[in-house]
Amino acid sequence: MELLFLGTCAGTPSKARNVTSIALNIQDNRNISWLFDCGEGTQHQILRTAIRPGKITRLFITHLHGDHLFGLPGLLTSRSMLGVTEPLTLYGPAGLKTWVESTLSLSGSWLTFPLEIVEVSGGEICDDGQFRVTAWPLNHPVTCYGYRIEEHHRPGGLDVERLRAEGIPPGPVYQRLKRGETVSLEDGRVLRGADYLGRSLEGRKLAIFGDTAPCEAALALAKGVDLMVHETTLEAAMAEKANARGHSTTEQAAALAKAAGARRLIATHFSARYSIGDCQRLLAECQAIFPATELAYDFSLFSLPAAIREG
Ligand SMILES: [Zn+2]
Ligand SMILES: [Zn+2]
Repeated sequence: MELLFLGTCAGTPSKARNVTSIALNIQDNRNISWLFDCGEGTQHQILRTAIRPGKITRLFITHLHGDHLFGLPGLLTSRSMLGVTEPLTLYGPAGLKTWVESTLSLSGSWLTFPLEIVEVSGGEICDDGQFRVTAWPLNHPVTCYGYRIEEHHRPGGLDVERLRAEGIPPGPVYQRLKRGETVSLEDGRVLRGADYLGRSLEGRKLAIFGDTAPCEAALALAKGVDLMVHETTLEAAMAEKANARGHSTTEQAAALAKAAGARRLIATHFSARYSIGDCQRLLAECQAIFPATELAYDFSLFSLPAAIREG
């Protein structure tokens, strides 16, 4: 599993950074991508990566501000011009459906794929059997959500080769062993499921915040996650200005990561006032409070390897 940042600038793009979009690449077995926000120019950024628009199956919008949304019509219509037929589900706050449908209709656009638009209001929004996603209301001038992605634990696979080598033909016995049961064979052998199962894997947890000033829901959203993505629009000394506009500072994001017991913090959504060089200062402010902080630049890639489940 990897997070690829397609845009890391707040409000307006800068020469070095585009506006917000993050791709979650679920490589493990399906090679699909989920997108979080789609600021203007996101499809141009995608062209510089290995992401294929047809492999984007879910797209989560945190809020309807342009720097998180205005790239959406272009991505949707290009996905059609490529002839993609795979369905796409869009999630976001109330108003998203009207905005998307009006834009497509007024511009005479057409789609080659089924588009489902789900307006969220907090709580569980999807569970595809591998991942469960919940939405959490944040503190911003327009309705804005953060998304928590929780992977279900993955049981170890059955060692089919070993079973075959031991002369046990495929059948109901395999199913029982896979469930961890002990099975007695007609020839007298007794097989323990645990002996034929690989190690199970821990489910990974991520919190991807939208724009927000510090708020009540943030702690629960980020509780115990392996990786937390949070905005750091302004530096620590500008807390009043940041919070008045519904944003957070470096120190506030880092303090939240620490309080929530997150393992890693990825800071993003920096004001266009900061150059790439300035960002090192922002990083130092975060790390003074939460050392496991990293900064996201455009095209930064963060891996989140699966961990063996203990016990
Ligand atoms: Zn923003
Ligand atoms: Zn915003």
